[in-house]
Amino acid sequence: MLGIFGKLLDSNEREVKSLKTTIDSIASFEKKLEKLDNKKLQTKFEEFKKRHEKGESLEDLLPEVFASAREAAKRTINERHFDVQLMAATTLHHGKIAEQRTGEGKTLSATPAIFLNAIPGKGVHLITVNDYLAKRDAGWMGPVYHALGVTVATIVHDEAFIYDPKYKDTSHEDKRLQHLKPVSRKEAYNADITYGTNNEFGFDYLRDNMVYKLSDKAQRGHYMAIVDEVDSILIDEARTPLIISAPAQEPTEKYVKFSKLIEKLDGTSDYVIDEKQRTANLTEHGILKIEKILGVDNLYEKDFSTLHHVEEALKARTLFQKDKDYVVKDGEVIIVDEFTGRLMMGRRYSEGLHQAIEAKEGVEIQQESQTLATISFQNYFRMYEKLAGMTGTAVTEAEEFHKIYKLDVVVIPTNRDMVRKDHPDVIYKTISGKYSAVANLVAELHEKGQPVLVGTTSIEKNEFLSELLKRKGVSHALLNAKNHEKEAEIISKAGEKGAVTVATNMAGRGVDIKLGKYVADLGGLYVVGTERHESRRIDNQLRGRSGRQGDSGETRFFISLEDDLMRIFGGEQVSKVMNFLKMPEDTPIEHGMVSKAIEGAQRKVEGHNFDIRKHTVEYDDVMNQQRQIIYGIRHKVLVTADNQGLDLKEEILDKIAITISGMVSSFSEEQDYLKLVEEYMTIVPLDQNSKKDLEQRLREFQETEKLTEFLVNLTADFYNERENNVGSETARQMEVFVYLNTIDQLWIEHLDTIDDLRSGIGLRGYAGRDPLVEYKKEAFDLFEKLVTEIDSEIVHRIFKVATQNQTPSPVVVGPSVEIRPEVDISLEQETSDPRPNVIAKEEIAKVGETKVTIERGGKVIGQETYGSSGELTKQHGKIGRNDPCYCGSGKKYKKCHYPN
Ligand code: ADP
Ligand code: MG
Repeated sequence: MLGIFGKLLDSNEREVKSLKTTIDSIASFEKKLEKLDNKKLQTKFEEFKKRHEKGESLEDLLPEVFASAREAAKRTINERHFDVQLMAATTLHHGKIAEQRTGEGKTLSATPAIFLNAIPGKGVHLITVNDYLAKRDAGWMGPVYHALGVTVATIVHDEAFIYDPKYKDTSHEDKRLQHLKPVSRKEAYNADITYGTNNEFGFDYLRDNMVYKLSDKAQRGHYMAIVDEVDSILIDEARTPLIISAPAQEPTEKYVKFSKLIEKLDGTSDYVIDEKQRTANLTEHGILKIEKILGVDNLYEKDFSTLHHVEEALKARTLFQKDKDYVVKDGEVIIVDEFTGRLMMGRRYSEGLHQAIEAKEGVEIQQESQTLATISFQNYFRMYEKLAGMTGTAVTEAEEFHKIYKLDVVVIPTNRDMVRKDHPDVIYKTISGKYSAVANLVAELHEKGQPVLVGTTSIEKNEFLSELLKRKGVSHALLNAKNHEKEAEIISKAGEKGAVTVATNMAGRGVDIKLGKYVADLGGLYVVGTERHESRRIDNQLRGRSGRQGDSGETRFFISLEDDLMRIFGGEQVSKVMNFLKMPEDTPIEHGMVSKAIEGAQRKVEGHNFDIRKHTVEYDDVMNQQRQIIYGIRHKVLVTADNQGLDLKEEILDKIAITISGMVSSFSEEQDYLKLVEEYMTIVPLDQNSKKDLEQRLREFQETEKLTEFLVNLTADFYNERENNVGSETARQMEVFVYLNTIDQLWIEHLDTIDDLRSGIGLRGYAGRDPLVEYKKEAFDLFEKLVTEIDSEIVHRIFKVATQNQTPSPVVVGPSVEIRPEVDISLEQETSDPRPNVIAKEEIAKVGETKVTIERGGKVIGQETYGSSGELTKQHGKIGRNDPCYCGSGKKYKKCHYPN
């Protein structure tokens, strides 16, 4: 009966036992360290670094390092690490997940492991779930690190700070936020320790792979990451990737058209909805109807775009509900976060779904965007040499952590014994019956003075319950869609006598609830769940709010047969139990068997969701490999450029030589000189006279080898000639620019292609073949094509970049032939081509600004503007007349290179 879980507990016990021996050796250092004065303690970091360089491993150093961290915490924040916290720290150091219950002090637990891993000097990242916690925790633990001589910084959206006790910002009441001095992102990453959110770390990585200068990279590598609330980040949030995108120009009428089209369909005959899978599919009948309306013979043959639009419009109409999944406010469709119930301002669903919903709601439709860079959290975090995590709820997802991240879970004992009472679920027939029971219980507890925290799954339900409580005259705090700092303040008071707090699932997470005076005797914090979540883990998080550090407390979930989980997943199992128990019509029942049946249903859903995530990862792996290769090449180019050597020049000339020899070999079959010259001119543009001259000159060669040699040398001469004209520094810049820009541009197109491939792959009849295998194969072919294309583009673009004031000078080849590369013409051609093309003397082309959108989970998080010094941009060809000219002259475009 024990099964896997039993084995898990067994090995956990062994693990805990072995951790205990470490605790003893840590303790043995305490007396000695107590005697050190503060100055001496501050030199500890340097000392450990030296010893590590001389060969002591981190494992060797661990006991003394941990003991030093404990000493520092004692002196600075007056908290001495509990033994169980040091066990957690050891677990983190070993690259595992430490499951520590809420309120056990995970913030402090991480410090010894962070300190230890900062010793190799490669930086340690501590990942938090929101910006508020990133600042709070860095500022809170700042004094501990400072006392040890370690620097700590934090990165949040648009800002970065370093902990500096001398700096004081009194605009915050919370002392922990007062000593954070603003610094650049790069400085923050250069600190020994950097706190920040998963989003910011991920986006910085993507941004770093869009820069044109090595020194513009902010991150210095991915050595160790410790992820706080690791289940939220690596499981819940991992479902949606990070995306940086730019707006693309697509007409918006089509969304309206398709939305209207779907309106004409009939829900009983034209499509079927599967709530469980969250899918909506057209029936044969529905397809015929659409084909008739659109006047096409076969919808599936028309194009992916049409089909895609039809599908998104159908989803928008059938699966996405106003005031549940999203709200419409001030003419905008705003997503409601499924977990927290917050309004996700500015975030958008991807792949045209958001536009489809906008069309359905009849509000203004915002443009679809183009992905510039993207990565999933799975793949971001798998880059770290060492990864570890902490959370109150990991063990239910142990298998997933192990399979996807190779992270094992160790359940750390609590500091004090847990005395919280978890009552069995009570189950009602109807939702309204359930809610009035909840309201009654809350009123009763409130009367008695016992604080209550009610968790709900959405804003709507939050407000509904709030209304019920108002009618009963129960005063309460309502928590949703507020800012994290405020939320933190409210939730921290939820344990006071008589307090009633109604909160969406995870509002105010990361902040623990301390009990007020006399509350322990009243039974402690009472947590009421109003619905079971799909995942037991989320329910456990809610329960975990109560019973911290040996506090008394109670929890209970209220459920109705009309709840989503029951309707969609629980059905059979639960009704069987209900029948067995002969549930009466109008009274609720409370029985362990019901809770068990529900947990059985949850387990099924969890498994199902894990499968989906695993599936996503499998597909994602393909892109991930490709991204690593491309980013690797990119990085090499940046490093080469930074060294100012001739390596790139040689590489480019080699690529040209290969292209030329290809041209000559196809020429040898046809013997068409004019064609050869014209082909050559796609690399080096020539004026009309030079073209004729070159053709004549080529006719003199009999052997193709000699011909190739001549052309290759000629090209090298042109190249050197140009270099003499513009100066070698500019020549090097041109190389970097063309190289990187080509990679970026083609990579972005590739992202799009792969995206289409991926969404289309399921639609193709593969006659029983595995779509994943087919996808991998096709993606591989496309990638090979991409790599060839990058080379070809570089070859064909390098001679077409020009600088300001560059006058093409004649190149003399042999006694009678004068061949002139025609730079001016090519310049004009290139300006009408919407591609970045031109380089300036000092800087890479200054272009019009490009708005860049930062996106997660298909939801826009922020927008950025790129383009002041040559970062990736899509809009070089579309410079405004009044923008600074691309050539870097500083003059307006219309007064400089604007074509007359
Ligand atoms: P968690 O993240 O595990 O929920 P926190 O890090 O927010 O917990 O800490 C919860 C509370 O416990 C904080 O108020 C903190 O000051 C306190 N705490 C943590 N460790 C200790 C300790 N060793 N001694 C005293 N108080 C501690
Ligand atoms: Mg915490």
